Amino acid sequence: MEAAFIYNEALWSRGFGDSHPLRPERVKRTYDLLTAYRAFDAPNSHLVEPRPATRDELLLLHTAEYVDAVERLSAPRDGGEERVLAQCYGFRPDETPAFAGMFETEGLKAGAALVGAELVARGQTQVAFSIAGGMHHARLALASGFCVFNDVAVAIHWLLRQGFRVAYVDIDVHHGDGVQAAFYDTDRVLTISLHQAGIMFYPGTGFPEELGKDGGYGYSINVPFLPYTDEDLYLWAFRQVVPPLVRQFAPDVLVTQLGVDTHYRDRLGSLLLTTQGYLALVEGLASLAEGIGRWLAFGGGGYAIDVVPRAWTLAYGVMSGQSFPDELPPAYAERCGPGRLHDVEGPEPVEAWAAKQTRAYVEKGLAVLKARTKDVWQWG
Ligand SMILES: [Zn+2]
Repeated sequence: MEAAFIYNEALWSRGFGDSHPLRPERVKRTYDLLTAYRAFDAPNSHLVEPRPATRDELLLLHTAEYVDAVERLSAPRDGGEERVLAQCYGFRPDETPAFAGMFETEGLKAGAALVGAELVARGQTQVAFSIAGGMHHARLALASGFCVFNDVAVAIHWLLRQGFRVAYVDIDVHHGDGVQAAFYDTDRVLTISLHQAGIMFYPGTGFPEELGKDGGYGYSINVPFLPYTDEDLYLWAFRQVVPPLVRQFAPDVLVTQLGVDTHYRDRLGSLLLTTQGYLALVEGLASLAEGIGRWLAFGGGGYAIDVVPRAWTLAYGVMSGQSFPDELPPAYAERCGPGRLHDVEGPEPVEAWAAKQTRAYVEKGLAVLKARTKDVWQWG
């Protein structure tokens, strides 16, 4: 496949800062690792610069008032009026704080998504990967969960305008609530989110009963997992739902959010995947994308700094058909420490009673899903 990697330094040089979980280092190190592996030297692998989204493009999803507010809060004056504005639109200092240059940085992420969408729509590349994006929690007029502009939903809206139907698969540990909400009432976008259940866990949504409304009923699909779900169970559920539904839906474009906060060493989530399990998911998505011919992929969550660069490097290897030596290259190891591309360790095995509970929860969820959508989907 011809593959595009959408990236430049402006995507991370300003942001929430180094003390925030969404550290710029996650994205920078991924690029550094891929560069050290010479991943952009292959003739089918293209390093592509993003561009800022235009105001009209942001308005494909967001309200004009919200876009104005983001622009105003982007040059913080910290007056009373700004504080009210920040509160109204979800900018919380402890979660999604406004920062200087926010409008430009977040608008560039949306533009990166659109560059990728344009490349795959025109058939210039079969896959495009925007690692700095995947801001799946942002709403029409609300910042949430580190997300300001929902680059994913903006790009999907643009793809719909080109006449495409879109299947969206979200494997971040958090429910892809913003993307689900944006397309909850349409059957032109199938959204499937697999995530840690929203029981005392952000954003508190994503249960099997959330299935879409009106003409979109059955086109919002959720597979929640209890904490301590291991990768065998996760992969089993993925295979039950994702390939059969995406194949039946037969989209023109596959869009994926590839957050890696499902990893067992990630501190934000409590699922127990390794890089091997993550790679199996990406390979599953790649084989679906091969039949479709257009794949727009995003990064997303992932907060263990020594995990994210390896996981996204493995993912881009799948996309661009490259395999890299398992020992981290010296140019990268000198700065970030030596190690292996794949995990050499894994989580402690879960106790039998916990394994039984996590499996029963998934099976119950799938039973609800299948029963309530039997008129929409053929379940094997
Ligand atoms: Zn996440």
